Amino acid sequence: MNLHDLQKWYDFTGRTVAVTGGAGMLGTEIVRSLYALGANVAVLDLHKDHADEVFMQGGFDPDRLVTVSANVLDAGVTADALDTVLAKFGHIDCLINGAGGNHPKATTGPEMSFFDIPAESFKFVMDLNLLGTVIPSQVFGKQMAEQGRGVILNVSSMNAFRPLTRIPAYSAGKASVSNFTQWLAVHLAVEYSPKIRVNAIAPGFLLTNQNRFLLTDESTGELTDRGNSIIGHTPMARFGNPEDLLGTVIWLLSPASAFVTGTVVPIDGGFSAFSGV
Ligand code: NAD
Repeated sequence: MNLHDLQKWYDFTGRTVAVTGGAGMLGTEIVRSLYALGANVAVLDLHKDHADEVFMQGGFDPDRLVTVSANVLDAGVTADALDTVLAKFGHIDCLINGAGGNHPKATTGPEMSFFDIPAESFKFVMDLNLLGTVIPSQVFGKQMAEQGRGVILNVSSMNAFRPLTRIPAYSAGKASVSNFTQWLAVHLAVEYSPKIRVNAIAPGFLLTNQNRFLLTDESTGELTDRGNSIIGHTPMARFGNPEDLLGTVIWLLSPASAFVTGTVVPIDGGFSAFSGV
């Protein structure tokens, strides 16, 4: 192997990456980092207006960054988004399935017992996380199968390894994302091309909009009991930052991970390794 090639692994110049949920808190950081490494980036988000606000005023070159209105639960709209990406950049190298999340109405607490969670709330969360990963993987994966190469990166969560209290639908949804990651990795490699890889990241606890109301007190900003318990079970004794995800994301999209597929990588400050004793 030519050792000079090592320096090119993280040069994304000419590579096209589509990021669903790309205008979200984690998506924004991921998009910025890939853009900084030279990638062409397509930000696919339900809220295109928000995506435009975030990215169009940031000095990004419109030749290398495009925002696309997308709904990961709608195959037709997702296919239109792929067409937009192909018309703009000519090919697709990587898909990040970042759209996902929980919903307060599928979260147990003093005002919502498990027995009262409406089926439609549970279904909303399951669909957003599982189908919202499956549908773009079908649309973009088909294109990758035709090209004979590509990388898909899913976003799972800590709660996929062992469920967390209070969030049954989100835990089940992300467990299904991890399982699907393994299934799709095998399917695409065996049936289509060993040059198509599928992996996932499993972020630990980041203080973001999604969980802020669970980890900190809305009025005082102090840690809740749950927030304290998480820090107590995290050997690195802190919440993660969106930047903590970037190294693993870049590695899993790059040729540095050419022989890695079907994995779910925890990025959790040691939370999943710690028995609590
Ligand atoms: P976020 O809510 O800030 O961003 C989600 C983005 O997805 C938003 O921009 C939203 O408009 C978009 N979106 C929602 N529904 C969509 C749809 N149907 N089609 C297209 N786009 C849609 O969330 P985040 O905190 O950035 O989380 C991103 C991913 O990381 C999610 O899958 C989440 O479950 C996962 N995750 C987050 C954490 C965390 O601590 N925030 C931890 C583990 C995993």
